[in-house]
Amino acid sequence: MSTQPKIAISACLMGAEVRYNGGHKESRLCSQVLKDYFDFLPLCPEVAIGLGTPREPIRLVGDPAQPRAVGTRDSSRDATQALVEYAERMAVQLDDICGYIFMQSSPSCGLERVKVYQANGIPHRHAGRGVYAQAFCARHPDLPVEEAGRLNDPVLRENFLTRVYVYRDWQVLLKQGLSRRALTDFHARCKYLLMAHHPVQYKALGNLLGNMGQGDPALIGPRYFSQLMTALSRCATRGTHSNVLQHISGYFKRAISAEDKQEMQHVIGQYRLGIVPLVVPLTLLKHHLRQNPDPYIARQLYLQPHPEDLSLRNAI
Ligand code: SF4
Repeated sequence: MSTQPKIAISACLMGAEVRYNGGHKESRLCSQVLKDYFDFLPLCPEVAIGLGTPREPIRLVGDPAQPRAVGTRDSSRDATQALVEYAERMAVQLDDICGYIFMQSSPSCGLERVKVYQANGIPHRHAGRGVYAQAFCARHPDLPVEEAGRLNDPVLRENFLTRVYVYRDWQVLLKQGLSRRALTDFHARCKYLLMAHHPVQYKALGNLLGNMGQGDPALIGPRYFSQLMTALSRCATRGTHSNVLQHISGYFKRAISAEDKQEMQHVIGQYRLGIVPLVVPLTLLKHHLRQNPDPYIARQLYLQPHPEDLSLRNAI
């Protein structure tokens, strides 16, 4: 397995001129920054099903829960079935991706809030999901997915990329073989990350594994992972991060001076109030951990869930 996680992406976001009008929607974040950290797999479902470029644009019509993708001028040109079949083929083929970045608002690729038109040409009150994105995600319900536009929000960006790396770690674990011990160990590494994202689910998942007994890890594992990914899709807040920072700083509270303890509390307080970004208390925490190593804490994904030089925690 490549060391860089593979991420599928709408091809127009990488600058490919595949849109209906022959243009692209390049996301410089993806094509210039993230490309150094991920193996991107650009896909354009509309081109792949033979619609050609340039082409008559399509739009969603009908029931927002199950819309059809038809031509904007000639509504008898229905691309729905071809898009669904292509999504199903790709869902099988792309079994080693760790995430998918979709182009927003597209009747094929949009994940949320895509306009669905009524027979009178006016959009429904309820929006829908692109036909291709819907069919692909249905077959990979735990896969981290996000729209490119939302990645401009630093909190959503950090959340998505954290999930991508956790997903990659899980794929590695599956390749190595899922044992009860491996599952417990994986959960232990996720402890503080999970606590930051969803403190209630952290306990529930601990109970799920605690009651595993002699249960089959091949049955419990997928259930555990599905719940883990749902929990991680909830964004951590300044409050929950501060709580985790307090917990971790408790590991070395007897080893550091009163002055250092006070400084740690001060910096966590500043982070909680939004005066400094998360990287500030974390850097101080890591400094104390280097002076007072703790093997359990050192293994925590929370400390560095993604490459440090992506600087994702400088902006949250
Ligand atoms: S949004 Fe999807 S279908 Fe439309 S051009 Fe981009 S990749 Fe192709």
